[in-house]
Amino acid sequence: MNVNEPFDVFRARLNSGEESCEARTQQYLSTISRRKNLNAFLSVFEDEALAHARSVDKKIKAGGAGHLAGMVVAVKDVICMKGKRTTCGSKVLENYEAIYDAAVIEKLRAADAIVIGKTNMDEFAMGSSTENSAFGPVKNPIDETRVPGGSSGGSAVAVAAGMSSTSLGSDTGGSIRQPAGLCGIFGMKPTYGRVSRYGLVAFASSFDQIGPFANSARDVAHILKVIAGHDERDSTSAKLPVPDYLAAMNRDVEGMKIGLPIEYFNEALNPEIRSVLEKRIAQLRDHGAEFIDVSLPHSEYTIATYYILATAEASSNLARYDGARYGYRSPYAKDLSEMYTKSRSEGFGAEVKRRIMLGTYVLSAGYYDAHYRKAQKVRRLIQKDFFDAFKKVDCLMTPISPTTAFKFGEKVDDPLQMYLSDIYTVSANLAGIPGISVPAGVDRQNLPIGLQLLGKQFDESALLKVADFLEQQE
Ligand code: GLN
Repeated sequence: MNVNEPFDVFRARLNSGEESCEARTQQYLSTISRRKNLNAFLSVFEDEALAHARSVDKKIKAGGAGHLAGMVVAVKDVICMKGKRTTCGSKVLENYEAIYDAAVIEKLRAADAIVIGKTNMDEFAMGSSTENSAFGPVKNPIDETRVPGGSSGGSAVAVAAGMSSTSLGSDTGGSIRQPAGLCGIFGMKPTYGRVSRYGLVAFASSFDQIGPFANSARDVAHILKVIAGHDERDSTSAKLPVPDYLAAMNRDVEGMKIGLPIEYFNEALNPEIRSVLEKRIAQLRDHGAEFIDVSLPHSEYTIATYYILATAEASSNLARYDGARYGYRSPYAKDLSEMYTKSRSEGFGAEVKRRIMLGTYVLSAGYYDAHYRKAQKVRRLIQKDFFDAFKKVDCLMTPISPTTAFKFGEKVDDPLQMYLSDIYTVSANLAGIPGISVPAGVDRQNLPIGLQLLGKQFDESALLKVADFLEQQE
């Protein structure tokens, strides 16, 4: 039984009775326990997942099973599931049980997907290596001395190591695309507003978006189709119909115009990554796609702008963890003010504290105009760069990350180096546009190299089409 086979193929075998959801779920559970040392999961719903699988098997036999019947999904521990621990990778929420289901969980269930467990992550989704989890780092299954990327490292590893068919992550500045790239799988950040954030614990609300990891572009399309769509409980959710992503994936790229941002292909780009991308560009060209150089002139400001605005929003969102209502409360406090300070000082990890301090600083009265307001204006310019580029092209191709998977400890003590891992990904969150990470090749050490496709707002279809085409090429 090949757990990496495309969902379409597996589903056909389920329908014909050759396969069962129960056996497949059991197989994923065995891999989860065999590869426990990867530390990808924070909770595993063994009995519940098997019981659910048996009920889906019955539904399939009876006819009328949902679109995702047979799909086994792992969910990043920043997405609420009623009655389940939702830790966000933090000591603050170590014992917190969610009191309602996120919109995406409701939708997965309604489509008969099986949720197998919750995955490890950087604390409150802040990080690019999953070394910031309060529950220990996640290892890259390809080379266990290396990071899987982050912050959705556990979700990427679940799919890459065959512990689930697909998974959900969240992407605020690259947290789906970068770990997908470092683990050699597909990962998509949909357009801001495409997928409801109801039940996603907030990091930076104007950037956060939920999206899938999968072994193929078609599997991304299957799950996106289910989780996308308007939800009135998220005021930023778009009132737009969800297109038939699968129908758009016809592998015909003839006449498509693909932009190459000159600022992303500068001399700083790692030569091995460049040569893998060039090979992929040639394949698309051979099949009739046209490549056009475009300029995104404000690219040099993306990291600074992102780390001002995202920290500002985080400092505000994380004010709710005060030890009073829920979450960690320090047992050592003597009065109310000590309860606040000690609960927060003992509960949060170093990176989260750094973000809260940075965010509070850029929002403070004397510095608001110089930092926060200015960054808002630059965000607008960055967004305009993309909108101008999309007047000329259908999508953009860029690297996903400046390096392949790095070693544990290599960047964690140098925040600036870590922040620079996001140099190619944060712009999509600043502009609110969709992006997908596509496995493109390997480096000399056999570590995966991903490429990124960026699209017009709400045009995930174009990205999936190109991704699916590339998947068919050697
Ligand atoms: N690495 C980025 C950060 O630490 C992005 C995180 C994310 O997308 N959640 O902010």
